[in-house]
Amino acid sequence: MTQLVKKRLKKKGVELVTEAMAQGVEETDDGVKVTYEVKGEEKTIEADYLLVTVGRRPNTDEMGLEDIGLDLDDKGLIKIDKQCRTNLDNIYAIGDIVEGPQLAHKASYEGKIAAEAISGEKSEIDYLGIPAVVFSDPELASVGHNEESAKEAGFEVVAKKFPFAANGRALSLNDSDGFVKLVTRKSDGLVIGAQVAGPNASDLIAELGLAVEAGMTAEDLALTIHAHPTLGEAVMEAAEVVLGMPIHTA
Ligand SMILES: Cc1cc2nc3c(=O)[nH]c(=O)nc-3n(C[C@H](O)[C@H](O)[C@H](O)COP(=O)(O)OP(=O)(O)OC[C@H]3O[C@@H](n4cnc5c(N)ncnc54)[C@H](O)[C@@H]3O)c2cc1C
Repeated sequence: MTQLVKKRLKKKGVELVTEAMAQGVEETDDGVKVTYEVKGEEKTIEADYLLVTVGRRPNTDEMGLEDIGLDLDDKGLIKIDKQCRTNLDNIYAIGDIVEGPQLAHKASYEGKIAAEAISGEKSEIDYLGIPAVVFSDPELASVGHNEESAKEAGFEVVAKKFPFAANGRALSLNDSDGFVKLVTRKSDGLVIGAQVAGPNASDLIAELGLAVEAGMTAEDLALTIHAHPTLGEAVMEAAEVVLGMPIHTA
């Protein structure tokens, strides 16, 4: 999936330098100058702006949580059970401050589970259906397992792709790089994950999240009638590829 983004960035004239370590930053009259090391060589680059995207960490170290006996892990995240309950009965925790992907929709999902748990429901967290999206060009989106993680989790899988190059809407949008990939359980076709790279991947992943959440099979997706010509047809056609009955190919 990342290769598609790399290809598109290169086409736009972006120079990509990976596996580099920033050494220092200097403000100049009209921007910034960054010194970095790559493959043992020191280099500099000048630019208008510097965007720092190194991640975030919890600020639980100065809140006095240990004074009330709240359990934290070694990263400073608050430990919770599957109902977002901490080790203290009347304190629940959700979102970035607990383990898991640091995403807004993960935080609000946990918020609902915590509220239900507090009101006595038996709800518990299941992270499998949480989508992750990279709003790049083209967009990348994933939900549930990818092929590798499914195998690591012990599933025997059938994982197949349908390319946007064979999708009428993508062709008419002149945006046909990418694919829909389904990861299904071999024994019964259960959809356990999906990846989409390409136009509107961030929206297309919703149907696949529903499939994972509702326990649908590749056959369910293949038999769902999708309007023509739409990008969503690629989901249906990926399911047909899983079933070994593709109507279209690239
Ligand atoms: C630049 C950026 C872009 C992002 N883009 C996306 C995106 O596109 N999609 C996505 O899903 N997620 C995105 N995220 C992540 C998303 O914002 C977080 O996962 C989400 O806000 C987590 O919600 P939260 O309620 O756990 O924490 P927050 O939204 O961070 O809320 C925590 C609140 O606690 C307050 N607080 C902190 N310390 C204390 C204290 N000691 N006492 C009292 N109050 C305190 C803070 O001020 C804040 O209001 C992005 C994050 C950043 C930084």
